[in-house]
Amino acid sequence: MTHHATLKATLEGRLKELIARANEIDDDLSALADADWDENAIEAADDEVLERVGRATVEEIRNVRRAIDAIQAGTYGTCIECGDAIAPERLVDLPEATKCMRCA
Ligand SMILES: [Zn+2]
Repeated sequence: MTHHATLKATLEGRLKELIARANEIDDDLSALADADWDENAIEAADDEVLERVGRATVEEIRNVRRAIDAIQAGTYGTCIECGDAIAPERLVDLPEATKCMRCA
C-alpha cells in the first residue's frame, strides 16, 4: 500500500511535468490544464494542437492518467489488454505501463 502511495505521488509529479511541458509548447492548452486534463479534454484538443504538443506527450499524459486511475481502482500492474500481471521489472522501468510486454 505504501509502495503504491509513493508510486502514485511519482506519477502525479510526472503528470504535472508533462502538462507543464505541453503548456509551454502551446498556451492554448493552459485552459485544458486548469480544467484538469482528462480524456475528454485531450479528445477535444484539435489535431493542430496535438501536432504542436506532440502525440507522444499527449499519449504519455493519457498513460500516466490511466496508471493513476488503476492505482485508485486497485488494478495497477494488470494489463488492460489481456488482464495478465505486468512484470514488476517492466513497471520499475516504466511506472505508467498499462499493458504487458506482449500487448504493448
Ligand atoms: Zn497483456
